[in-house]
Amino acid sequence: MAKHLARIHGTEEDRVNCPFYFKIGACRHSDRCSRLHHRPAFSPTLLIKHIYRHPVRLAELQQAATAGETVIDQKQAMEDFLCFYEDMFLELSKFGRIDELHVCDNLGDHMIGHVYCKFFNEEDASDALQVMNGRFYDGRRMEVEFSPVTDFREARCRDYDETFCSRGGFCNFLHSKPVPTALIRDLELESEMDRRREKDERRDKDREERRARKRERRERREKKRSRKLSRRSRSRSRSRSSRSHSDESDDSRSH
Ligand SMILES: [Zn+2]
Ligand SMILES: [Zn+2]
Repeated sequence: MAKHLARIHGTEEDRVNCPFYFKIGACRHSDRCSRLHHRPAFSPTLLIKHIYRHPVRLAELQQAATAGETVIDQKQAMEDFLCFYEDMFLELSKFGRIDELHVCDNLGDHMIGHVYCKFFNEEDASDALQVMNGRFYDGRRMEVEFSPVTDFREARCRDYDETFCSRGGFCNFLHSKPVPTALIRDLELESEMDRRREKDERRDKDREERRARKRERRERREKKRSRKLSRRSRSRSRSRSSRSHSDESDDSRSH
């Protein structure tokens, strides 16, 4: 029984857990889904919801506002996307090494503009969530959560990756916008250098602080020693004066 449940977990056969939420971390029924969306308490993967401004959605909004036909400038849209990807990559990689970063090309309301970031370390994902959730990017508040997706092969749409997905932007599997490998390599290198530089700076600061503490301790010790010395010299002069008294009295007795 337990084995059977484990096998069907998150599949179509599973009547309890939602297979879409389990595999893709997003389901078109959202909270109204009849099956469970089990949100993980920890995960190496973060989902930043609806943060990428999809050019198709932007064109729709513009069209609605101007009541005219809007044509998407594909070249500009691509440039904007690559800039966005760079921003996200460098911002997220401050917390640790990134394994995968995906930006959704999907148009469905439950997936549009989603960004998935999988870190090599779960702790780095947790740190990033703490800092980035609620912060603003491009004038919009970021909503960040742990995602159940850890194997993107299960989440991605094979048709989209191979050739063409007939469901288009409304497919419920992840359409991850392609990014040139050379750009990813560059970003990995740059972020690695940034992290190393920050580590060095932190180490220098630590060393400086340690030195300052050492100096303080030495100064305290010296002060204490000089206090002790002055006390000793005072008590010595006192004992000398009392001795001179007794000498006097001795003298008087001898008389
Ligand atoms: Zn669902
Ligand atoms: Zn698809």
